[in-house]
Amino acid sequence: MKGLAILGATGSIGVSTLEVVAANPGRFAVRALTGCRNWRLLLEQCRRFQPALAVLAEPDAAGKLAAAVTAEGLAVEVRGGPEALAEAASREDVDFVMAAIVGAAGLLPTLAAAEAGKRVLLANKEAVVMAGGLLQAALDRSGGELVPIDSEHNALFQCLPPGGGADTDGAGVVSLVLTASGGPFLDTPLAALDQVTPDDACRHPNWDMGRKISVDSATMMNKGLEIIEACRLFRVEAARVRVVVHPESIVHSMVEYRDGSVLAQLGNPDMRTPIAHALAWPGRIPSGVAPLDLAALGGLTFRPAETDRFPCLALAMAAAREGKGAPVVLNAANEIAVAAFLEGAIGFTAISSVIDSVLAQCAWPDPGDLEAILALDARARDAAGEKIGAFAL
Ligand code: NAD
Ligand code: MG
Repeated sequence: MKGLAILGATGSIGVSTLEVVAANPGRFAVRALTGCRNWRLLLEQCRRFQPALAVLAEPDAAGKLAAAVTAEGLAVEVRGGPEALAEAASREDVDFVMAAIVGAAGLLPTLAAAEAGKRVLLANKEAVVMAGGLLQAALDRSGGELVPIDSEHNALFQCLPPGGGADTDGAGVVSLVLTASGGPFLDTPLAALDQVTPDDACRHPNWDMGRKISVDSATMMNKGLEIIEACRLFRVEAARVRVVVHPESIVHSMVEYRDGSVLAQLGNPDMRTPIAHALAWPGRIPSGVAPLDLAALGGLTFRPAETDRFPCLALAMAAAREGKGAPVVLNAANEIAVAAFLEGAIGFTAISSVIDSVLAQCAWPDPGDLEAILALDARARDAAGEKIGAFAL
């Protein structure tokens, strides 16, 4: 049995991970589960999966969970506060860590898992965008390993030769091709984008995800972050990562080789497939996902990504090319702008305006160490917070 910790157990990826665990009895022992404030769902998960440790980042919510766990006589230690997240990620009895906290909040616990030599199942793309180099260095030092969960990067991982990410040139790789669904506004008239609501933006045609990544998919910042994620995970320069819009979300990404071969990974759009792949790699286990029926689908379509419709994609591509601290600033400004949009403080099209003006204002020296990355992240958040007022509805 492999010991498993799930960071972000109460989110979309966390819940799907527990479904895959339940579909494979006797293979994984859930040792630690974490959430932010949803103590009721974490309590249900504790009843069912009996972890040794449950953590909630919000101390008040942790207090409520602790009281309920004691009242029910469950043998679960409950901890509160962000520091306890890293503890969940580095426990001795944990082999695999699902890193599925959303946003920069996942960085420190994900780094802790890497430093502790775990297999990191990486969904938290913001951590890689901010500090991919530090994460890789920690894994190299500790002998840990990383298997990507993001469906595109999991597809690339499957289409590259074993260890191919370490030497893409030697493997004959020409480019990595990320597919993008285009989100809910792919065909919305441009003039109507001013009026779309958070609920419109979160109504993704193919994937059922958390609200932040759903908005990122609607702006295509998600694809932009994924370009940077691909550069970091597979050590390629931004010019070799391409994007193609594929509204059906069946082809999850492709690797183009020197001899003209293009290898793709296909499947129904359901995160349980990459989760099962990463949990079992290099083996294969059932995921509960329906088999793909191409004849029933009838056809797959592809088209270019329009950067005038998706200015966030253009901003992210520029940050990917720029490198240094630009991705840190981009990510931080995006988190603040998306939160403001979800709260109804700014409109949808203001998201890219906020990020653009923060990128124009902030210097982005190469941040180097963790302290400098966190300082740059904090500066960019402050700058974005100040810009929100200028774009307020
Ligand atoms: P979600 O919003 O559904 O869940 C987020 C999880 O993070 C929850 O468990 C929440 O409690 C926890 N969390 C939030 N803020 C926290 C904080 N400050 N401290 C500690 N925990 C906190 O999000 P999701 O859709 O599951 O996405 C999680 C990550 O996976 C994101 O980085 C996202 O980009 C990535 N991802 C998700 C999908 C998907 O299909 N949902 C696909 C690819 C990648
Ligand atoms: Mg993705």
